[in-house]
Amino acid sequence: MQVVLIGVGQAGGKVTQVLAEFDHDMGFNAVQGAFGVNTAKADLQSLSIDTMLIGQDRVKGHGVGGDNELAAEIMQDESTEVMDALDGRISTSAEAVVIVAGLGGGTGSGGAPALARELRRVYEVPVYVLGILPGRDEGALYQANAGRSLKTVIRESDASLLIDNDAWRSSEETLEEGFDHINDQIAQRIGLLLASGEAVEGVGESVVDSSEIINTLRDGGIASLGYASAEASADPGENVNTVTSITRKALFTGMSLPNAVDAEAALLVVAGDPDRIPRKGVERARKWLEEETGSLQVRGGDFPLDSDRLASLVLLGGVERSQRIEEFMQRAREAHEAAEERDPVEEFENDELDDLF
Ligand code: GDP
Repeated sequence: MQVVLIGVGQAGGKVTQVLAEFDHDMGFNAVQGAFGVNTAKADLQSLSIDTMLIGQDRVKGHGVGGDNELAAEIMQDESTEVMDALDGRISTSAEAVVIVAGLGGGTGSGGAPALARELRRVYEVPVYVLGILPGRDEGALYQANAGRSLKTVIRESDASLLIDNDAWRSSEETLEEGFDHINDQIAQRIGLLLASGEAVEGVGESVVDSSEIINTLRDGGIASLGYASAEASADPGENVNTVTSITRKALFTGMSLPNAVDAEAALLVVAGDPDRIPRKGVERARKWLEEETGSLQVRGGDFPLDSDRLASLVLLGGVERSQRIEEFMQRAREAHEAAEERDPVEEFENDELDDLF
């Protein structure tokens, strides 16, 4: 799938850059362009992709300090300039725009939904948000920001593919130490998904097409991605169980949003050497996914790659809200109520969670 990536905020910019680098190093060419937007000058300076600083008159290049409402305002106020800068970068061959942002911070959290709204007004291609959720040991502000941003991002995007920072981290590392590792995992997995719709080698009926990714995300709401891989035998007949077992692993332990398997739609991509991919295994795994997700729309396809391993990528669209998602929303409601107590003059709607804008 031909995409343009726009990273908003620190995490957004970093992840956009590693995704673009992965795509380039693998020679996939699914990423047509990568762009970073931020209110913090220092965060942009460490990126090698093209960037744009916003909110200079309000925050003087110092960032919004976790104030996602301010970030949403800045993005809305400067939307003309941002859209001008993007014009020409989003060519007619782009099949989707993907906004990448950490939802727990300030600039990405508030800026991503505001930018999604603008982009959807102007472009016909789907606008997805790749949203990174704070891990459990990140502070209360991050959790509350994520809850409020989530509500708005889900409304403003064509689909929000969520990645919990606790999902793909390795257990020995602290979150900070682990960012590079998590970002590499995101780049590889999301990068493979995007590239799978671009497969040219071994073109055949069973190869995934971009439209299958877009159709899987068609119902909007929350999306998530799972991944698992294993060594494969040269004899495809011996790989039937391998494909079913890595698909189970992808869904049960490899999802970017853990503990949420009920979905409106799913796509199973089996990546690997086409001679090693067992048709029977793929069909069984697809049927199994149908039962587990309760979805009647489970698409499937191959992604031919030169490798002696096989990998299962499971994309879920229209995912049920998990307990964890509800917790974020609850944290945002509590933060709201606390603010209301501090400042009773300001009116908040009882216990309804407000949108960012
Ligand atoms: P912003 O610049 O104001 O948008 O704020 P950040 O992008 O720093 O957002 C903070 C959130 O993103 C927190 O939940 C962080 O844990 C997370 N975060 C920051 N940097 C990274 C990163 O490099 N990778 C990942 N996966 N998460 C990050």
